[in-house]
Amino acid sequence: MVKICCIGAGYVGGPTMAVIALKCPKIEVVVVDISVSRITAWNSEQLPIYEPGLDDVVKECRGRNLFFSTDVEKHVAEADIVFVSVNTPTKTTGLGAGKAADLTYWESAARMIADVSKSDKIVVEKSTVPVKTAEAIEKILTHNSKGINYQILSNPEFLAEGTAIQDLFHPDRVLIGGRETPAGLKAVQALKDVYAQWVPDERILTTNLWSAELSKLAANAFLAQRISSVNAMSALCEATGADVTQVAYAVGKDSRIGQKFLNASVGFGGSCFQKDILNLVYICECNGLPEVAEYWKQVIKVNDYQKNRFVNRVVASMFNTVSNKKIAVLGFAFKKDTGDTRETPAIDVCKGLLGDKARLSIYDPQVTEDQIQRDLTMNKFDWDHPIHLQPTSPTTVKQVSVVWDAYEATKDAHAVCILTEWDEFKKLDYKRIFDNMQKPAFVFDGRNIVNADELRQIGFIVYSIGKPLDS
Ligand code: NAD
Repeated sequence: MVKICCIGAGYVGGPTMAVIALKCPKIEVVVVDISVSRITAWNSEQLPIYEPGLDDVVKECRGRNLFFSTDVEKHVAEADIVFVSVNTPTKTTGLGAGKAADLTYWESAARMIADVSKSDKIVVEKSTVPVKTAEAIEKILTHNSKGINYQILSNPEFLAEGTAIQDLFHPDRVLIGGRETPAGLKAVQALKDVYAQWVPDERILTTNLWSAELSKLAANAFLAQRISSVNAMSALCEATGADVTQVAYAVGKDSRIGQKFLNASVGFGGSCFQKDILNLVYICECNGLPEVAEYWKQVIKVNDYQKNRFVNRVVASMFNTVSNKKIAVLGFAFKKDTGDTRETPAIDVCKGLLGDKARLSIYDPQVTEDQIQRDLTMNKFDWDHPIHLQPTSPTTVKQVSVVWDAYEATKDAHAVCILTEWDEFKKLDYKRIFDNMQKPAFVFDGRNIVNADELRQIGFIVYSIGKPLDS
């Protein structure tokens, strides 16, 4: 029986390994992590991450051929294939701070593999890493090899949170990069054999190592660039009376462009887009390509601009001050169907509103009060004025309360800001909300999900991104 071990039981390692275990019943899959609380949660009824369909997959395989453990060294030592799916955040100090990927977790995982291995291994980069990371990993492993043969493969993950299980069941492509040596090609084939259990052959792409590593950064940069392009256009639409939905539809009808990922919004978030573009920028700079670096930087600058623009629109519309006004924030996760708040635009928008002394009442169906408080008090790398929250219960915190119902959040509020596109926000009883709000009652739709005309009929003043403004 082939044994797989995955180091890192996070948003990628957990779901990815669960699907491999489901589709390959003859392979034993053990997911290991240094976080005891995460592994305890994976072994419980309350999984550590919310992802539609994940519970069913885990229920079917856990205890059969899928295991979660904190005994990292034992399971790495026993595995034939070791996936490394640890976090690779942006460095916050030292060389490359603010841009380069922090490979501390990766390096310590590689050193641990070298320490405990007693048999040949295929080591798979599942984390998103800078191009040429495999070279560094090879050095660490071969200089500590004790005669063991290691083959490094790059197998970046393209799943999107919120649709991870469907993405893993039906991937657009599985990408495997390896050395073009006989041993490298054999390792590529071994990993291909795993995915071939459910992924059609034409969707499994094999490349050299550097192409695979760079393709992941490139894919995220292209996706984020589309969002920044349509968001940049949304500002121009507001200035000219064009409607960004109509413009995006007309543009996307061109088969060379397509309709996907052309929704204007308050901005992109998530743990990957900004981090991976910054990483790309750093790699370009290190390779003497400042003009290319500058090009990609603009994608992030437009995203920051869009979040600021939204805050400014809220404040300007509400007679140039939100001081002591209650604002209901609907949605805090960076997108619907996830509880993940990493780099969510809601953080910057909320901090911007708090900076103008608003009182916030926040509701998100999957985000906990602890997460929100941590995110709003966290000192962001470039954040000069962290918000100070009193360490008392959220209902008594002066500026921010976290509530568990959209109607509670909007009661007596002066405005509603929709920051995540949860389906339930489309179906709210807006007449009831209007009746319980201060007047004039504003809706600022940061995701363009509500029917603005219907809301205007009720009496709201509505702002939708990239749409003609209410007079
Ligand atoms: P995560 O923070 O949710 O999970 C990483 C896990 O690795 C954590 O639980 C951490 O405790 C564990 N870990 C760190 N060092 C360890 C060690 N030495 N031994 C054992 N466990 C260790 O991160 P994630 O969202 O799953 O992302 C992982 C990687 O995948 C990142 O490089 C990310 O860029 C990439 N990625 C993420 C997504 C996504 O949507 N989240 C999609 C594609 C790729």
